[in-house]
Amino acid sequence: MRSNSDIAIVGYGPVGQTLASLLGRLGYAVSVFERRPSLHPRPRAVHYDDEAARVFQRLGIHAELEPITEPAIRYEWQNAAGETLLLLDRSAPGPSGWPAATMFSQPELERVLDRAAKALPTVEVHQGWEVAGLVDGGDGVRLELRRGSADGGRRAAADAEREVTAAYAIGCDGASSVVRETMATGVEDLGFAFDWLIADTIPHDPSLLAGVNLQRCDPQRPTTMVSGGPGRRRWEWMLLPGETREQVEDEEFVWRMLARSGVGPDDVALERCTVYTFRALWAERWRVGRLLLAGDAAHQMPPFAGQGLCSGIRDAATLAWHIDLVLRGQATEATLDAYTSERRGHLQHAIAMSVELGKVICITDSAEASARDEVLLSVAADPGAPPAEPPAPELGPGLHDGEPPAGSLFPQGRARDEGSPLMEDTFGGGFALYAQEANPTDLLDEDARETLRGLDCALISLDEDSDAVYRAWFAAHGCEVALVRPDFYVFGTADATTAAAGALVARLRAALTNQDRDEERVTR
Ligand SMILES: Cc1cc2nc3c(=O)[nH]c(=O)nc-3n(C[C@H](O)[C@H](O)[C@H](O)COP(=O)(O)OP(=O)(O)OC[C@H]3O[C@@H](n4cnc5c(N)ncnc54)[C@H](O)[C@@H]3O)c2cc1C
Repeated sequence: MRSNSDIAIVGYGPVGQTLASLLGRLGYAVSVFERRPSLHPRPRAVHYDDEAARVFQRLGIHAELEPITEPAIRYEWQNAAGETLLLLDRSAPGPSGWPAATMFSQPELERVLDRAAKALPTVEVHQGWEVAGLVDGGDGVRLELRRGSADGGRRAAADAEREVTAAYAIGCDGASSVVRETMATGVEDLGFAFDWLIADTIPHDPSLLAGVNLQRCDPQRPTTMVSGGPGRRRWEWMLLPGETREQVEDEEFVWRMLARSGVGPDDVALERCTVYTFRALWAERWRVGRLLLAGDAAHQMPPFAGQGLCSGIRDAATLAWHIDLVLRGQATEATLDAYTSERRGHLQHAIAMSVELGKVICITDSAEASARDEVLLSVAADPGAPPAEPPAPELGPGLHDGEPPAGSLFPQGRARDEGSPLMEDTFGGGFALYAQEANPTDLLDEDARETLRGLDCALISLDEDSDAVYRAWFAAHGCEVALVRPDFYVFGTADATTAAAGALVARLRAALTNQDRDEERVTR
């Protein structure tokens, strides 16, 4: 075990795993401490979006993900009578160039992420080591480690306690985060809390209910029935008033629930069933000194939009490049506050959406449910109704130009035609300056080139042979140049002139190095 690292990560769930890989690939000495001796065994998330897939693309793990994932093409809401209240068609790829919705089993995803992190010589993973305390000394963090797992694992008698240091410590330690507690940040809790019984099953015939991803808005028992990845089906039932965890975690109860979907022991094997309480909350500060938060340690939300894990993966993508530039001395420490303000703004949108969906789904009063059905059925029947998918959220204030498209997600297309690689595979990700119908090198003076070289920024010229995704984006936003951050969000845009492109790069340089400007943005 190293006694000192650049970054210590507390917790080795999917967010800690992803962050460890992102930072380890940048060359940092990363030490991860996880109290469990092995990976989390329980299936939780079953859905990730195209943006999470784009982060996994950066890790180079898609060949390994392919056999354990499947796209969800349709997502349907029905009322108790089986009428369609809402139908989402996800057959087109999302803006990040990957399927808009991918279904999987979380333990299988974690195994792939685990292999990717451990394959890096820069990353040390210490499972079975609990972080019992952290002290931020101003110039580094001291972590107090205790051998053994806090959830019932045995503690070794010898070598049971250690202390290590790191320049920064990042809490990816989930809902009951010790890092969050040490930071003494307030927590904003929306007071939304519902208990749901989750059952994962393995159909004997893998084609059973294949392609069915359904929300049954039945006031007598709100129910979710979706893929749990290839070869698995997930059911979720809301607990009704008066029902207890003990009653519903009983297998007989689960089989009775499954029978309502026409499924019995002849059709599926029950993998496990557990009650989860879904909450909606976030930490007010995600950075205090050298301590930071990401994933469930920073926020929790009900799973109705399938965004809990996806939000944590976004945190990892954003935090990795912020901390990279700070450690390389290319950005001030205030950059780390921008991480909080950017991600929190985005996250609040995900939580609001999850809660709003939950309020509609969790209705148990039959009169209220009829009123809901009437509204949704009339919208479903109206061909002129706005699309059911809400617009993608933008980042909160931080390291971008402020006005959209700055702060919005930049799309990813193919490098050229259908069969060519995805664009970011051609340069491995990182900062990128895209110019439509122009050569970016011709637009940059020596100062601008020097700045972008220091950031390992790729210069990408888009022409008439480039993927139409890019042409459509530039046309929609009335610009010709886009400076895109390593987390795929737009820093800013410009016209294809030397003056405008130079000013854009100068604004990035100022944002990274001028603390006053950072603080002014963060408090805006
Ligand atoms: C039923 C259910 C369905 C869900 N569905 C979806 C979905 O479809 N899509 C989606 O995006 N999200 C979904 N989620 C949410 C998703 O599962 C979580 O957001 C995700 O697991 C969070 O990952 P994490 O790495 O932040 O935290 P965790 O996975 O909780 O990992 C935290 C780790 O930190 C360790 N740890 C804690 N304290 C310490 C300590 N002091 N020292 C060392 N280690 C410590 C823990 O042992 C744990 O391994 C769902 C959740 C549930 C419960």
